[in-house]
Amino acid sequence: MPNNPEKKASAKIGDMPKEEFRKYGHEIVDRIADYFENIDKMPVLSQIEPGWLSENLPENAPLDGENFSSILDDMDRLILPAVTHWNHPNFHGLFSTSTSSVGIFGEMFSAAYDMKAMLWRTSPASTELEPVVLDWLRKMMGLPPDFSGIIYDTASISTLHAIAMARERIDLKIRENGMSGRTDLPLLRVYCSEHTHSSIDKAVILLGLGQRSIVKIPANEKFELDHEKLSEAIRDDIAAGHLPLCVVATIGTTSSTSIDPVEKIADICERNNIFLHVDAAYAGSAAIVPEFQSYFKGWERADSIVTNPHKWLFTPFDLSILYVKDKDLLKQTFSLVAEYLKVAETVTNQMDYGIQLGRRFRSLKLWFVMRYFGQEGLIARIREHCRLARLFAGWVDESENFEMLAPVPFALVCFRANPSKIEDLDALNEKIMNDINASGEAYLSHTKLNGKLALRLSVGSIRVERRHLEKIWDLLNEHLNAEIANH
Ligand SMILES: *Cc1c(COP(=O)(O)O)cnc(C)c1O
Repeated sequence: MPNNPEKKASAKIGDMPKEEFRKYGHEIVDRIADYFENIDKMPVLSQIEPGWLSENLPENAPLDGENFSSILDDMDRLILPAVTHWNHPNFHGLFSTSTSSVGIFGEMFSAAYDMKAMLWRTSPASTELEPVVLDWLRKMMGLPPDFSGIIYDTASISTLHAIAMARERIDLKIRENGMSGRTDLPLLRVYCSEHTHSSIDKAVILLGLGQRSIVKIPANEKFELDHEKLSEAIRDDIAAGHLPLCVVATIGTTSSTSIDPVEKIADICERNNIFLHVDAAYAGSAAIVPEFQSYFKGWERADSIVTNPHKWLFTPFDLSILYVKDKDLLKQTFSLVAEYLKVAETVTNQMDYGIQLGRRFRSLKLWFVMRYFGQEGLIARIREHCRLARLFAGWVDESENFEMLAPVPFALVCFRANPSKIEDLDALNEKIMNDINASGEAYLSHTKLNGKLALRLSVGSIRVERRHLEKIWDLLNEHLNAEIANH
């Protein structure tokens, strides 16, 4: 038998022969299983130099189709070295996010069906499964039934839709008349804290409001939005003839997972009839844990809430949920029905609820995750991540050479090395972080808190165990001791 009995795909038409699909399908699942089994041994951050992969790829696509086995070989040779392993249990940078295996099964099926949910009839499964799954999660998170959810790709897009709703609600006919060339529009204002995610700025830019509409309210020493300053800013703006459009409050800021005083902010929004959007992209998943419910007080009074199961609910990227109180307003903001899309059925057509026409069947993977782990299983995992983060914070607290720089409400620890012998602590911490990251042993990121460079350790991989935290703690101490010795 020749080595490669498979005929080149360019020699015929149609899809890959079914025998080949079966064979490689099994092989790929085996490879993914091996990947998860061996992930601990891989460098967390890809060790390639920028440009390495692109330089190793041919300039043109092949003229003749290639055997799939040689494509698979290139996964090991070219792609894997260029992968940064978000699933690695020592990925502690940014937010540690990871997929479960069952989440991958969901992606496999949705890729296979390849439905585009525009109209109900083009994708009944997606149109009907999505609201059910999102309602399950809504109940688990303790949100009242007046919220209904819709899935987008990312929190950035969910927030864009939320602020678009706020803009539609003020009845300045911006949908019809736009904003350019108008002299009858006041300056519209969007308020958020200085710790708010940059996706708010991007949404404001894209919606034509301009960056000057954003008012960044200072935060207190615990990085929480100062609600009195918010109240003052709104009062001053109204006095100046501006129109407050929207307030974005964050539960679990990106930098330190601080929690804005949502109840107080909701009071202010209610008094002034301002749209309230809550960004819980990261922390929303923790609302399923009963003892963390107190962090979410007041979010049920928001007009919209974003949470990302792809961040901390073991669902592969991407899947972000926007919960809204007024789904009709969302529809009013986006619905446009072209002649060829007009249908007689009175059904939900998902194309009416956002800027995309077709949407992926994303709810399937979340359905798999929720059914496979169950509410208790998901709670146990998130609770354990928070426990591990507190355990690590305890080691920092007890150490003479390290200090905490922010509270730990969820599973992110902000800290730094502060040995008495070294003065430039920002440079020291940056060096330790860069050295650890370059080693491939673990990945940490940083932020600035009260003017100090803070190391961020996020605990969130479904594969993380205490031993992984012991490993990064040892690494930190080893690298610090080396710096002290060199000093
Ligand atoms: C991660 C994050 C975002 C952005 O998430 P994407 O889904 O990548 O757009 C927005 N807000 C907060 C608080 C986040 O942590």
